[in-house]
Amino acid sequence: MKKRKAIIALLLVTFFNIILFIISMCTLIDCEGSSKEEAKAMIMNNPHNIRGVVSYKRAFNDLNDTQLNIAQAIGVPAIANRAEAEKQKKKLTLIESNDYYVVDELTHSVPYLIPGAAELINDIGKNFLDSLANKGLNPNKVIVTSVLRTEDDVKRLRRSNVNASMNSAHCHGTTFDISWKRFEKVEEKDGHPYESVSSEKLKLVLSEVLRDLKAANRCYVKYELKQGCFHITSRK
Ligand SMILES: [Zn+2]
Repeated sequence: MKKRKAIIALLLVTFFNIILFIISMCTLIDCEGSSKEEAKAMIMNNPHNIRGVVSYKRAFNDLNDTQLNIAQAIGVPAIANRAEAEKQKKKLTLIESNDYYVVDELTHSVPYLIPGAAELINDIGKNFLDSLANKGLNPNKVIVTSVLRTEDDVKRLRRSNVNASMNSAHCHGTTFDISWKRFEKVEEKDGHPYESVSSEKLKLVLSEVLRDLKAANRCYVKYELKQGCFHITSRK
């Protein structure tokens, strides 16, 4: 009798252990299932209708003289330094990163432009984001790499680059550089990560945006191969 009771007890313990094991396995599977649901799907690109321009050099060949002439006509006179630029707040607008563009860490310029040029940067950033959306590409912002150069900036630039002079459109608050090499990726939307877009594709789309603004007489544009940027002067 004792033996039989012991066997029944053993069987009962084993049975409960099996039940416990099954329950814990089910919980595990359930957890895995729900964590899979939580990792949100990536937003993929669906590129179409990306054309660019035939030649960057030929499409954007507005020389320094052309840009300097309009800069001197509608811009501010050359400015000595940053403190001087800050005093000119009525004539100059502070340029800061926003929803449409990013201002790079500026090493040889200060972030001020005449209002027309400030509006142009905004429109470039906005049109770029619109074009990307229309062409099935995920959002990226353009990066502004150089803005208004003061006399102090030009002096410092001369130490590394002999060609830097006060004869640059950058000295009048009408002119800025936008990189064609680097863009700032918008990372995600509602927790869904965006698939990256290659810088080659982004450069093509940016060139279409600039070509259209140039054709509308909004700006002059020069393609800078060595500096990796578009050198842009506002025409109003
Ligand atoms: Zn430039």
